[in-house]
Amino acid sequence: MLIRLAGGRVIDPAHGRDATGDVFIRDGRIAAPEANDAADVVHDVSGKIVMAGAIDIHSHIAGGNVNTARLLLPEQHRAHLPRPAATPLSTALWSTFETGCRYAAMGFTTVIEPAVPPHYALHSHLELADIPIIDKGTLCVLGNDDFLLSLLRDGESRAAIADYVATMLTASKALGVKCINAGAAVAFKHNVRAFNLDDIVPTYGVSSRQIVEALQQAVMDLAIPHPLHLHTNNLGIAGNVETAIATIAAARGRPLHLAHLQFYAYGKEGKRGFSSAAARLADAVNANPNVTIDVGQVMFRQTVTVSLDILRQFNAMDTARPKKTVIFDEDLNGSGIVPFNYRSNNFYNAVQWASGLELFLLVNDPMQVFFTTDHPNGAPFTTYPEIFALIMDRNLRRQWIADLPSAAMEMTTLPSIEREYSLFEVATMTRVAPAKLLGLKDRGHLGAGALADVAVYHDDPDRAQMFRSAHLVFKDGELVVRDGRVTHYRFGRTLKVDPGFDRGIDQRLARYYDELYGCSRDMFRVPAEAIARDHAFEDVACEA
Ligand SMILES: [Zn+2]
Repeated sequence: MLIRLAGGRVIDPAHGRDATGDVFIRDGRIAAPEANDAADVVHDVSGKIVMAGAIDIHSHIAGGNVNTARLLLPEQHRAHLPRPAATPLSTALWSTFETGCRYAAMGFTTVIEPAVPPHYALHSHLELADIPIIDKGTLCVLGNDDFLLSLLRDGESRAAIADYVATMLTASKALGVKCINAGAAVAFKHNVRAFNLDDIVPTYGVSSRQIVEALQQAVMDLAIPHPLHLHTNNLGIAGNVETAIATIAAARGRPLHLAHLQFYAYGKEGKRGFSSAAARLADAVNANPNVTIDVGQVMFRQTVTVSLDILRQFNAMDTARPKKTVIFDEDLNGSGIVPFNYRSNNFYNAVQWASGLELFLLVNDPMQVFFTTDHPNGAPFTTYPEIFALIMDRNLRRQWIADLPSAAMEMTTLPSIEREYSLFEVATMTRVAPAKLLGLKDRGHLGAGALADVAVYHDDPDRAQMFRSAHLVFKDGELVVRDGRVTHYRFGRTLKVDPGFDRGIDQRLARYYDELYGCSRDMFRVPAEAIARDHAFEDVACEA
């Protein structure tokens, strides 16, 4: 069947296209232009904006922390689609199912869950499989694991470390490697409560920096498309811009993705000793094209922070609103759930809000800065439409700034920034750039042969309304959303890599699991048949 989207403004930065024209879809893929009368179905999208489906590289949508947050905060389960009363789980709202629907309604078609410890991978994949419409992927968390730190302590070869990383990725069916406060979760168990890039992990004798460098090298050696995805040290602390800048320098020109950099954009200026240093940080990003960042924008509302950075979450317990937390220590990272209410009349929260927007607006290249709230840590992903509007409209920003504490705004450069994102730049940041960063050649653009993931928006001058409620969304060529409402349910795939490695590492790991846990290492493998669906997983090529 040939579908023709006729007469829209097609914005496809991968091909330098921003012009009125047609997009053709055949058998789930974008097709080369054909005679107009050849189409079986024609959608008149004149006056509408046509883009590829959006891709989110960092959103916590599944896994242990997400579930624990649901259990901790039953009163926060609000949704616009309540289940019928007197049916099972009628009070449990915003399920995995709704996660897919809400993303699709905004024109998002691929979302990456960025924090899956390898031993929790099966649960995460089962939960992801329950999210409809969108394609998914996971990042496997390494860097506080005993096996890796032991390899480093014992001075084992680069090849051995790459083999270990590869087998953990393969067993957990992940798309890339995440590292969260390298070594700090181990140090936390030894009652360390602050951990810097050059601090040494007790009993292993390796520094945070060495762990990061080793993982970065392994990702490169394995030719995994997505660079090491790093949550670096000292998140959320005044003055931590120095850590972020030191981490950028530590990459030494090699590919590195820094997660939710807004939470590291803090100086110590002013009488409260807390200021935005986002302008300085943006300069460092601009000067290091090997580095990509995502923002982790804060928005003012109740949310919950979920993190495997147990040291950070433990230190943040006093800030919990409402006053309840879950901290659990365990093998690998441990984790913490701390509810948080970002308030617009709070000096610190207002500085955080401004510093995120400064990063968006002061990093010059939209291929280098990625659109996230670190859902749900900075704000739920449902706030994306408001953030699109803020980066596209300086007058709207002025209105917001006027309502915020002036003492906070004096600690940022935001009031002086004139830049407004164009739709072309938004499409670059949310389509082209994430596809490239993740090695997904079949999406993020509208060239012939690409997956027919397409979002059509009303050209509403209210950009928040435009991005909140897409006019039409196609996933793999199937129409799934009409005017912000899901009209057709389907299930996507989970993207993963399958790097080659020396299988000798598996024998070592089998002995290790047997000795340490008295169990088979296979307990922690995610079998493909765990997801009872055809084509549940899809490999993304690893190539240098
Ligand atoms: Zn995160």
